[in-house]
Amino acid sequence: MKSIRVLETVEASQQTSQWLNNLLGPVAAALEVTAPPPVHFTSVGRWSGVSDGSDQNPQRRISFSPRVKLFRRQAILELWVHELVHRVLQNLDPDIDHGHDTAFFCLQSWCFLKLQKEGILVGERCSDWISSSSFYDLQDKPISGPVWDSKSLSQWLPQCIEWSLKTAEELTQDQQFTGVEQVASEVLRRYEKWQEWLLQEPKRLAIEKASIESKAREFAELRVGNRQLIKHNLWVLCALLLVSVLWVRAWL
Ligand SMILES: [Zn+2]
Repeated sequence: MKSIRVLETVEASQQTSQWLNNLLGPVAAALEVTAPPPVHFTSVGRWSGVSDGSDQNPQRRISFSPRVKLFRRQAILELWVHELVHRVLQNLDPDIDHGHDTAFFCLQSWCFLKLQKEGILVGERCSDWISSSSFYDLQDKPISGPVWDSKSLSQWLPQCIEWSLKTAEELTQDQQFTGVEQVASEVLRRYEKWQEWLLQEPKRLAIEKASIESKAREFAELRVGNRQLIKHNLWVLCALLLVSVLWVRAWL
């Protein structure tokens, strides 16, 4: 019989742990993460990182590909925040896969905004944090169904960007929301209400269309009425002129 060497995942070295803690510790503190999830350097397929909910990560932790160690510091920070947002949303809303939907993009935007405000995500302009995001982070439509399935990117994406950025900015300025879990609850509450509003869109458009058509009809009727009034007034004017002429002639 030949001997086979068997290995299991072990705790990372003190040096690796210290290096990552120096980088991510201030991020976790700024976002007030209640229990920062452990980071596991392991194979994650074609991804750089995965979070819980993935088939590749049944242990429900943030897993990084070993190649992440070669990334620049800011890219590691952005990747950890991205996976953290997945994890926070899944913890709060386990029945719904938010994937990369508008709620996800909103919460991730809030994290980056807060990190820039705290001086952890360094940028010269106040909008520099947006370069930490990409369209990848907002690729899922907020509503499924025949109306939304047929919409093209230009028809659904702009309003999702607008809603998520507006909400993230509002929550960043609101002192009562300071921790990522607390903000996530508020984002999900607002997101649900917004989705309900979006679902009413066909009804709203039908009402708007009926209102425009009704105003157009009223305008057309008014124009016809005005024409008749002008015609009537001309006849009255002519009659008055005739009477005046006859009256003048009678006196001459
Ligand atoms: Zn993701």
